[in-house]
Amino acid sequence: MEAVTIIDVAPRDGLQNEPETIEVAARVELIERLLAAGVPRIEIGSFVDPRQVPQMAGTDAIARTLTLRGHNLAARAADDAFRFTALAPNERGYERAVAAGLRHVRLVLAASDGLNRANFKRTTAASLAEFSQLALRSYQEGIAFGVAIGAAFGCPFDGYVSPERVLAIAEYAADLGANEIILADTTGMAVPTQVATLCRLALQRLEPVTITVHFHNTRNTGYANAFAAWQVGIRSFDAALGGIGGCPFAPRAVGNVASEDLVHMFNGIGAPTGIDLPALLDASNWLSTILGRPLPALVGKAGPVYTQVATTIRRLS
Ligand code: ZN
Repeated sequence: MEAVTIIDVAPRDGLQNEPETIEVAARVELIERLLAAGVPRIEIGSFVDPRQVPQMAGTDAIARTLTLRGHNLAARAADDAFRFTALAPNERGYERAVAAGLRHVRLVLAASDGLNRANFKRTTAASLAEFSQLALRSYQEGIAFGVAIGAAFGCPFDGYVSPERVLAIAEYAADLGANEIILADTTGMAVPTQVATLCRLALQRLEPVTITVHFHNTRNTGYANAFAAWQVGIRSFDAALGGIGGCPFAPRAVGNVASEDLVHMFNGIGAPTGIDLPALLDASNWLSTILGRPLPALVGKAGPVYTQVATTIRRLS
């Protein structure tokens, strides 16, 4: 069966929503534990204003420490995507990411003006205008970029966000040369039928650009949404170890879908992730100790089911 790629965003989306700032050494250890478990791609942090998101200060130091410890920031995953990436909302963030050694940057905006204003102090169109300048620069500098579209399935401020608007932003980003479009359900408003429709259209219109989905389990639809995306052909999924995470600028935001729970589901389906689930569960336990509380992920609590479900289902269908 076709492989799926899990991008662990716990070092960014996960830790940015923690009340305490986790020290650089522990954030590097988190990344190294994810790598040791076979996680193919990792979002190591974000290059945002540290006065706004103090939890993400030190992402530069994380990138440099990874390099010093022998990790190649230009390394590729099995699907040829860059192993390491980080989020940047603007030119300043892009410059810091590149200066820290990253070769892939996820430029981020929101599909709705409401969330874009709350988060980035400008309209969606203003973000896109800056990205078009950055695209030229990244081409000249040999830096690959993706575009993460927050509130792609609904906005906590503006409510409904039309799929046409999201697709128009995604197509514009693809035309600029983005190699990945991330459709993010920032505050967990999506339902599976909506996900299937938007993902199907995005795959049709944006081929060969990688479409990654990014779900939060705010209203317990995160895993159903991930499955709906997989069913229509999405093979790239953001998730966070332990199910931690959230957006500091969106009211009532809660955790991402948990990496271990997604891996467990894909194991059962028979779609290879290349991730060692027991090692991932160990990493999740460690993270729980670091954060000093139980984490939302469930597979570690209930225990994984190791059966031949996938083989049996294939035989019967
Ligand atoms: Zn998120």
